[in-house]
Amino acid sequence: MMAPRPLTSRPMTAAIPGRLHRAALLVLWLMALGLVCPFPPESLAQIPFQETGALNTHVCRPVGTVDPGLRPPSQPNTFSAVRIQKQELSLRLDPEQRYVAGQVSYRLGLDAQADELYVDLNRALQVDSVWLSDQPLSFRRDTLQLVLAFPIPGGWPAGQLFDLRIRYAGVPPINPNGFGSFMTARHSADSIPVLWTLSQPYGCRDWWPSFQHLGVRADTTILVTDVPLGYRAGGPGLLTRIDTIGQRVRYHWHHQYSMPPYLLGTAVSRYEVLEQKVPLSTPGDTVQVLNYVYTADTALAFPRLRNWLPDMLRLFSDWFGPYPFANEKYGHMQISIFSGGMEHNTMSSMGSWGYDLMAHELAHQWFGNTVTCASWQDIWLNEGFATWMVSLCFEDIHDNGYWFLPWKRGNLNSALRVPADTVFVTDTSLTQRIFRQRTTYHKAGFVLHQLRRQLGDSVMAAGLRAYLQAPGIRFGFARTPQLQGFLEQACQCSLDGFFRRYIYESGYPRYQFRWTSDGADVWLHTRQLEPEPSARPFAQRLFLRAYGGGDSLNLTVDFNGSARIDAFTLPFTPDSLVFDPDADILAWPAEVLGGQTSDAPGGYTGFTATFKGNSLCIDRSMALRGEARADLYDPAGRLLGSRLLNDQSLYDEWVWPFAPSSGWYVLRVRAESQFFSRLIPKAP
Ligand SMILES: [Zn+2]
Repeated sequence: MMAPRPLTSRPMTAAIPGRLHRAALLVLWLMALGLVCPFPPESLAQIPFQETGALNTHVCRPVGTVDPGLRPPSQPNTFSAVRIQKQELSLRLDPEQRYVAGQVSYRLGLDAQADELYVDLNRALQVDSVWLSDQPLSFRRDTLQLVLAFPIPGGWPAGQLFDLRIRYAGVPPINPNGFGSFMTARHSADSIPVLWTLSQPYGCRDWWPSFQHLGVRADTTILVTDVPLGYRAGGPGLLTRIDTIGQRVRYHWHHQYSMPPYLLGTAVSRYEVLEQKVPLSTPGDTVQVLNYVYTADTALAFPRLRNWLPDMLRLFSDWFGPYPFANEKYGHMQISIFSGGMEHNTMSSMGSWGYDLMAHELAHQWFGNTVTCASWQDIWLNEGFATWMVSLCFEDIHDNGYWFLPWKRGNLNSALRVPADTVFVTDTSLTQRIFRQRTTYHKAGFVLHQLRRQLGDSVMAAGLRAYLQAPGIRFGFARTPQLQGFLEQACQCSLDGFFRRYIYESGYPRYQFRWTSDGADVWLHTRQLEPEPSARPFAQRLFLRAYGGGDSLNLTVDFNGSARIDAFTLPFTPDSLVFDPDADILAWPAEVLGGQTSDAPGGYTGFTATFKGNSLCIDRSMALRGEARADLYDPAGRLLGSRLLNDQSLYDEWVWPFAPSSGWYVLRVRAESQFFSRLIPKAP
């Protein structure tokens, strides 16, 4: 395959003068073809999807069961009206017991004068006392909230800071509408206890008195965990002190970055420690990394952390700006959740040590933690980015790019399985919907990859850096239109149509390409078949690749929603065209019709082919006449083999000595004066 060359593209009216008449006839011919469409749509059942393997492990956490009875709180003060200057949690924890006891202190203010203050806290936890500065405060309980009455006529004034202290204890409830909130388990052959928290999206209240609604952040967080001797407890920021008192140990964590409550987490177990000092690309910039790993897993995890994490940190810092919490640390604390993880600020909780999980949780420190979605409707601003950023690692630094194409195919095909779903979440009451893998992760991640291909790397990076750095957004919250605004500013273009079609609306396009050529001159007719022509189009840059005589060349078509004809002059005579050869467009498989000759009208495919085990089964249609030669190319574009098709039969079975690996193959069939080319999926 040859490297891409500059494309020669000209409108039909600028065709080579001597060929003008013939070109005009070809246009008429192409337009006439558009009137009929005997080509049957691709069977959706043919689309392969990888359900297992590495691609399926880059989830944040497993999807939980759902209790539709639990709804997010609606009291007004929990909607961004609380300003937390400082929060300090002092908790007594023992991984042998599902129990928490402690005190939470706040220094906070209110945006508006209020008679009462609503603190999120599940009724399963008992409140011992509440103090406003040094005065005991009366309170009442709702199912999910602690309601405090200010003993001041007219209520507490806006903007005036006050100190609040709540002592509490109890057995945290198992939250069926979340990911566990507060969990205990045992791990390894020695059955060692572990305890961890995981509050996203509505689980803070299950283990501490909190203000868990998105919109609230705490400027400073101190977490002090008192655990039995022999255990370590992870936390946010810097480990400033470890006190041993008799048979107990206290870990003091100080975090000086603004953080939403759901990103505060801890994990307690018997851990081995791996400390790393990672230099970034900028001389002098380093990141301290602290890892808490089960003893039984150190042989697996330590080499991976040493080999993988530094390159990930450098790559993300190069793309999006230096690691955001460089003054403190990054790290991991191992937990026993199945395969997933959680991006707690500066110390991700890890259920396993897979490459994509490690990259995914690190990516969140930029997208999710530095900038947090302002509503769970916009969760893709967290998860879509973390999913997409794994692809950057697969492309640039892992296994020589081997996993990049499988990542694209896997996410693309997963998204195509849910054509009726939107990335934007309309019902945030169900955790299962917020964190739906095929939309929030796979579709959103792929849409960001697609956006990157549409805009180019430098524009994409500039827009995202501006977004991450923007005052009010950095260490704050954002919604989808804000991201769109920064990207539009970077590209000096409108992304309204792209965001509307791929983020807010459902469905995918199916494009049709009909082409013909005269030597190296190619005329290409492009239109959108699905959704129905009356629906809003998916206008975007489309990618194709022309093959011929052992050469290939990339072509682009700027599709604006209306059917169009483009003319190209190639450096070779093409014999086939393939749509989206590198899997960069979220669309149904396209119809690519036509070829060199005009006596094989577009609309006839010549053949269909499917993989069955070690065999490639080829069915000729009546349109394919006489002796024909078939060439099969693998997903990387390499010629795998050629054979003559039996002209006495409509059926050929091409048996291979091995089962071909999964991916998209190109089968090209050439008969006398006829040429056909098709993409053939091979499922895993
Ligand atoms: Zn995630």
